[in-house]
Amino acid sequence: MKKRKLDMILEQLEGFSAPDPRLEQYATPAPIASELLYSALLRGDLEGTVCDLGCGTGILAIGAALLGARSVVGVELDGSALKTAKENARLLGVDIELVRGEVASIALKNVSSVIMNPPFGAQKGSSGDRAFLRKATEMGEVVYSIHNAGSEGFIRRFVEPCKVEEVQKIAFPLKRSFKFHSRDVKVIEVELYRIFCG
Ligand code: SAH
Repeated sequence: MKKRKLDMILEQLEGFSAPDPRLEQYATPAPIASELLYSALLRGDLEGTVCDLGCGTGILAIGAALLGARSVVGVELDGSALKTAKENARLLGVDIELVRGEVASIALKNVSSVIMNPPFGAQKGSSGDRAFLRKATEMGEVVYSIHNAGSEGFIRRFVEPCKVEEVQKIAFPLKRSFKFHSRDVKVIEVELYRIFCG
């Protein structure tokens, strides 16, 4: 499947109906999700069992399944997000496993790749992406993770002895819908990490 096609499919998915700010529920924009998924696909990292930590409404998990991952499991704390993920998968006829659970306490075996867009806020002392990075590097051979621009120093230290192998900067134009300024665009910049644990 071409990237543009994946983009278009992912664009159609239902997002969070009532996002919970405490859980930092923010659906990954389709172009960023495609960027992560293609990056993983091209490196042969979508071949085995793929785990989406904090899968929310399922965009990364569903995208991985569409790109041919052997099996995909999404883990999410929020039951209502999981319900949407399930419906999104059903509408696309994609088979993924969805598990309700707290990231720090799940135990999954034989995970080859972890893909995630964890809650941000590392440098503000939030435990959010630390718990995610800890579990992801413990579980997966390779981890693809999205973080705020400027996180590299922290991530490199935090994931040791795993290694940050690539940091890809992604700029994404987010359209704003003002009444009189419909073309106003805000560019958000994020970093996509490939972390290798072996
Ligand atoms: N992966 C989705 C959602 C990203 S937002 C996407 O890319 O669109 C982060 C997700 O992590 C939210 O759905 C939130 O509910 C979930 N989350 C936050 N803390 C969690 C925790 N401790 N355990 C499991 N899921 C958690």
